[in-house]
Amino acid sequence: MTVTVRFAPSPTGRIHIGNARTALFNWLFAQKHRGRFIQRFDDTDTLRSRQEYADSILYDLHWLGIFQDATEYQSRRIEAYDAAVERLKAAGVLYPCYETPEELDLRRKIRRTRGLPPVYGREALELTSAQVAEFESDGRRPHWRFLLPNFAGDPMEPQRTEIHWNDVVRGDETVDLASVSDPVLVREDGTYLYTLPSVVDDIDMAVTHVIRGDDHVTNTGVQIALFKALGSEPPAFGHHNLLTTISGEGLSKRTGALSIEGLREAGIEPMAVASLAVLIGTSESVQAVPTMADLVERFDPAATSKSAAKFDPDELLVLNRSLLHHMPFEQARDRLAALGIAGDRAEAFWNAVRGNLDRLSDATQWWAVVNEGPQEKPDLSAEDREFVDKALDLLPEEPWDGSIWRKWTGKVREESGRKGKALFMPLRLALTGLPSGPDLADLLPLLGREGTLARRP
Ligand code: GLU
Repeated sequence: MTVTVRFAPSPTGRIHIGNARTALFNWLFAQKHRGRFIQRFDDTDTLRSRQEYADSILYDLHWLGIFQDATEYQSRRIEAYDAAVERLKAAGVLYPCYETPEELDLRRKIRRTRGLPPVYGREALELTSAQVAEFESDGRRPHWRFLLPNFAGDPMEPQRTEIHWNDVVRGDETVDLASVSDPVLVREDGTYLYTLPSVVDDIDMAVTHVIRGDDHVTNTGVQIALFKALGSEPPAFGHHNLLTTISGEGLSKRTGALSIEGLREAGIEPMAVASLAVLIGTSESVQAVPTMADLVERFDPAATSKSAAKFDPDELLVLNRSLLHHMPFEQARDRLAALGIAGDRAEAFWNAVRGNLDRLSDATQWWAVVNEGPQEKPDLSAEDREFVDKALDLLPEEPWDGSIWRKWTGKVREESGRKGKALFMPLRLALTGLPSGPDLADLLPLLGREGTLARRP
């Protein structure tokens, strides 16, 4: 059987790094098992779902290096859900309810004061046909609940009913169906809540592994019962811990917190996002993993911890620097070219500056320094200016090779008697305008003799 997973966000906003964690867990799992990855949009909430969000989610996933084998929209599959509803009704496990939210709230409060679990008491099962007729003539429309199989003979007397599964992430899991309300599957207006369409899709699309956040653990108990009610074997399930900010707040698509778009615009590399999103909150150390193939190797869902994973966005910058520091030119070439960094010096330039970048786009500042000279007037004392002037007189003739910096500064040391910082800092300031930056031994050949002399203060 081909391993088949799906990533199923509702397209109601841009995805954030926490959603990316779910997408990556699924993608890496599929890669590890040479399986399929379905991109499914849970867009039955027509008021809040938008195609532009679906498009932006795909864009963000592709940027991260996740490519779907199929794309599905729940809004185009309503007929399949209607058919499932008919089957559940025929089996007597979907029943109409007429309570308003206020009535339900009141009932919950009463149950609590009586020491009963605050779940739905199935009062609608006892409605007489006269009561139903009255509701209908009052213009009330029913919502429909799934009768959970948590009773022996009488549904009004639920009993502890354990649903077990071996979670791909968390190991043995149990949900007691007596602790959960019969879920509403269809709203008064006939639209679907998430619970049923998800199960119907997972069946029809032959999903073998449902991997999602641990906020869905209880849902899984309910959905396993629903798979069985629809005559299907449930798939395997895995629930990963959720990401929170350092102060413990959850991330939300709607607030745009730490959106993938925002991180991309801030110059964070996709593999920095992927490395952090996957490795945080696991027993693996968080490191900059250079490629998705390497991340597949490292990924082990069972190494994920059960508690929420707090993360610090500053870690992304640390990973970013590390990735850029080791990034081969071939990988950076096209992006550098798009920034105007091209030509026969581009590779040597990249190798010289990559260790000094927070973001790849910062390379343009060094490209300007190399091509146009210092962008800021070097802050040199009169004495240092004179020193640099004399040092430039000692600059060897071309052709130059990789040892030119050593040769030149050796001569300057001999002639001037200066050494260490007193020797190097004025030269660095004169050549780049800045007190720190890439190795001058790497920069000097890029400037060439003419370019170096043009920097005479
Ligand atoms: N649309 C659901 C969510 O975003 C999908 C959950 C699932 O993967 O089944 O929470």
